Amino acid sequence: MTNTKVLISGASVAGPTLAHYLHRTGCAVTVVERAPRLRDTGYAVDFRGEAFDVLAELGVLAEIRAHETGMRGTTLVDATGAEVGRLPAEAFAGGLEVPKRALTRVLHRITADDVEYVFGDSIAAMTRHESGVVVEFERGGTREFDLVIGADGVYSNVRRLVFGPHEDALRHLGMSGAGFSTANFPGLDRTGLLHTADGAAVYLFSAEDPDRLTVSLSFATAAPDLDRCDRDRQEQAVRAAFAGRGWLVPRLLDAMAEADDFHFASSCQVHLDRWWDGRVALVGDAGYGAAPTSGMGTSQALIGARALARRLAATDDHTAAFAAYEAELRPYVAENQAKGREAAAMFGG
Ligand SMILES: Cc1cc2nc3c(=O)[nH]c(=O)nc-3n(C[C@H](O)[C@H](O)[C@H](O)COP(=O)(O)OP(=O)(O)OC[C@H]3O[C@@H](n4cnc5c(N)ncnc54)[C@H](O)[C@@H]3O)c2cc1C
Repeated sequence: MTNTKVLISGASVAGPTLAHYLHRTGCAVTVVERAPRLRDTGYAVDFRGEAFDVLAELGVLAEIRAHETGMRGTTLVDATGAEVGRLPAEAFAGGLEVPKRALTRVLHRITADDVEYVFGDSIAAMTRHESGVVVEFERGGTREFDLVIGADGVYSNVRRLVFGPHEDALRHLGMSGAGFSTANFPGLDRTGLLHTADGAAVYLFSAEDPDRLTVSLSFATAAPDLDRCDRDRQEQAVRAAFAGRGWLVPRLLDAMAEADDFHFASSCQVHLDRWWDGRVALVGDAGYGAAPTSGMGTSQALIGARALARRLAATDDHTAAFAAYEAELRPYVAENQAKGREAAAMFGG
């Protein structure tokens, strides 16, 4: 793999992890990220199973642990806010839970000196030849790479360009949600509150910053295209789903309108017959997203990136490497996707 020129699309979890491993095997790696800078996503992600080995191999496990949210558990409440049960911290947090931005920053930092990062750009077109892939970038310029890897998430640009429209690959699990932060008016201290009823869930927690409350408003819906709508339309859908509900809901809906970190996501899985085509392959959510309900997306992105890098390091035949990577990972992904579907179905999706 020495001197192999690799372009990775996406600088979140799978992209920088893959970049790190490929650089170590002698590849010249470029990462293109559509966002103008590292994303400052508010939600927390967790790690399970072999993902810990990957963090240890990357030499960042202790540093990541230092960002642990330290959640002490979640109280289940009824429509009036009265306690009806408790969930231990591990129910959401897996083995270790950190703000996603902490993970992304650490992964970027350990690769920034060795990998070329291009922010604020995206692949506009790819022409594939026997010996390489000619890539045109949106901001102009054309470069040739030996391999192109899509690590660009559920709505992967690389997947759309090579494998076809999003609708062909995405499976909506019947559930969408808005996330944002606001002042910690309920006074939570490393704890969460969860209320679920009639196909809707309010989840609130405060962890890293005691002054801030992270809010998630999820609801059952059969409209997968909401992800692609503008914020007004998404807020409307949230208001419609939570209309007439009491407890803290009216105040949270007001706070949603004011939030400057509003984001909206549907629980979608990615299903493809094959994760690679010629000199192009997919890793993480782009190729086999299991949906947030699985709780496995981050672990899968780390483990997938390592598996792909190891296979590429083991042979000069990228076709054999891609095929071996897919064969190795498919059973693990199938398990995670089943978890994602089961959790969404329990919710009422
Ligand atoms: C609300 C929510 C809660 C979640 N909670 C959890 C959790 O508790 N536990 C867990 O394990 N997982 C959770 N996940 C899932 C987890 O965030 C993902 O599975 C994981 O981040 C996948 O990493 P990735 O690198 O494959 O893709 P992503 O993290 O999606 O990163 C894709 C990157 O590609 C970039 N990109 C997109 N388009 C382009 C383009 N055209 N050109 C260049 N770059 C592009 C994006 O900006 C982004 O940086 C959650 C997800 C959401 C939405």
